[in-house]
Amino acid sequence: MFDNLSDKLDKAMHVLKGHGQITEVNVAETLKEIRRALVDADVNYKIAKDFTSTVKEKALGQDVLTALKPGQLMTKLVKDELTELMGGEAEGLNLSGNPSVILMSGLQGSGKTTFSGKLANFLKTKKTKKPLLVACDVYRPAAIDQLHVVGDQIGVEVYSNKEEKDPVKISEAAIAHAKANGFNVVIIDTAGRLAVDQAMMNEIAAIHKAIEPQETLFVVDSMTGQDAVNTAKAFNDILNFDGVILTKLDGDTRGGAALSIRTVVDKPIKFIGTGEKMEAIDVFYPSRMADRILG
Ligand code: GDP
Repeated sequence: MFDNLSDKLDKAMHVLKGHGQITEVNVAETLKEIRRALVDADVNYKIAKDFTSTVKEKALGQDVLTALKPGQLMTKLVKDELTELMGGEAEGLNLSGNPSVILMSGLQGSGKTTFSGKLANFLKTKKTKKPLLVACDVYRPAAIDQLHVVGDQIGVEVYSNKEEKDPVKISEAAIAHAKANGFNVVIIDTAGRLAVDQAMMNEIAAIHKAIEPQETLFVVDSMTGQDAVNTAKAFNDILNFDGVILTKLDGDTRGGAALSIRTVVDKPIKFIGTGEKMEAIDVFYPSRMADRILG
């Protein structure tokens, strides 16, 4: 689907570039093509519509019709607008706490555990950071084991307690353990469900309230299209989270989720996951994502 978007935009731009002289009619046609391509890539219809209206206004404002290289100007406008819509600049993490507590939220299978490991590994390479991973999934012992495997792989300690069934208590004990043992970042991996349900929301809300994390991150599978937006909205309504992690951008990579999520919840995408390996993590750069969407 993402290829679809990129191909279509490319085609639309090509049509424009092919014209020596650009008319208002083919600007309008190009914008329509862009809008259709965005919708095909699961960008919410209204967002796509607003997007093309803004681009049109800017195009007319900048006299795209009489510009020397209208195709290039149009491409730049679309890219700038996409970049702007996805937040403009890259946004980092707030690591001002001592320890700084990072709470992971998201559905089961979104990539929370994998990303928790990636982030710990990423922070560990900064010499000033000593991360602790915390296993808070009290329903699936396999999830706790999985985090231990990840921790062993990257050489980061994992705090867990299979006897304790209250994730709030586990989180609080983990933070106390971090304070007593010189860990300055605590990454809490929580239980997810296959779909949004009230019990999961109550549980993550209770952890959030009790530990007041510096960063609450919402992890979402970029392949889940429009559902990703609905899930983001549900979690944001409960947690008012600080940032989004978009995983699995190495697969059938589509830009639609990045655009829509950013617009709907108005929170920055902070990192992306680009594979199963611990090194497959990147800071989210809006302009790079715009380039990728444009192909
Ligand atoms: P959790 O249930 O949210 O903790 O999800 P997991 O971390 O267990 O991830 C679910 C599956 O997605 C696992 O098979 C991971 O290896 C895989 N996964 C996670 N992140 C990525 C990514 O960025 N790219 C790819 N290709 N796979 C990923």
